[in-house]
Amino acid sequence: MATTEYSDIAYAAQALAGCQRLLVLTGAGMSADSGVPTFRGKDGLWTQIDAEKLASVDGFRADPEGVWEWYRQRRFEVASCRPHAGQRALAMLQHYLPQSLSVLVATTNEDDLLERAGVSDVLHVHGRLFDTVCSQHCGWSVSDDQDNSWSLCPCPNCGALVRPGSTWFGEHLNEQVLHSLERFDPDGCVVVGSSSLVQPIAAIPPELALSGRPVVEINIERTPLSAAATYYLGGSASSVLPLLIDQITSAVVRSQHVEERVVEG
Ligand SMILES: [Zn+2]
Repeated sequence: MATTEYSDIAYAAQALAGCQRLLVLTGAGMSADSGVPTFRGKDGLWTQIDAEKLASVDGFRADPEGVWEWYRQRRFEVASCRPHAGQRALAMLQHYLPQSLSVLVATTNEDDLLERAGVSDVLHVHGRLFDTVCSQHCGWSVSDDQDNSWSLCPCPNCGALVRPGSTWFGEHLNEQVLHSLERFDPDGCVVVGSSSLVQPIAAIPPELALSGRPVVEINIERTPLSAAATYYLGGSASSVLPLLIDQITSAVVRSQHVEERVVEG
């Protein structure tokens, strides 16, 4: 662990343990710890490849097979990555304390590492890499995580070309996902490995912090959110998040024991 003291983690956990609806937002730093190449930043994929050609409707129209070739390669790379301790700890938190703490996980990552770690109902704000969808939005989509075979076929519903389920530049975000996020109405938030630059998601944590809700940020470097966050924990997702979740779990269980004793007494 890099820069964070254990006491900071304990204070942050104590603040979050009083929540009933915890929103966890994860960004590229979460998947980077599993070895997934990131898009932004100085070594990001967008510095090496032409985003307009590979991640836009116009680029796909001009060269659908070229776009698919790149996405098949990316699916292959992501499939060879494994979930780390941070993602697994999140799954544990979600399933271990369902009566006391409801945990919703939303991510700007398109990979499936959270699901493979056991996290349920992940909201993919920027789409899902392993979905293959109709390029004409007729409503057809399929999970294509085995052999990319659907990428070779026309849409079985309308005959149009199929495309990867990622959200491309200039496209609207999935409204259902945004509605689910809005409906959740969190009373606390953890932001992990996110640049906190991409809207509308980036606006949620500062708003919560302004209304007095605990917001904990985990990142290897400070971001535009850090100053507004209740606690900034410097370090990687795979090292800090498991420690934070361990402490949250202990704090919740401790408070339940205290409540039981009060009832018994
Ligand atoms: Zn179709």
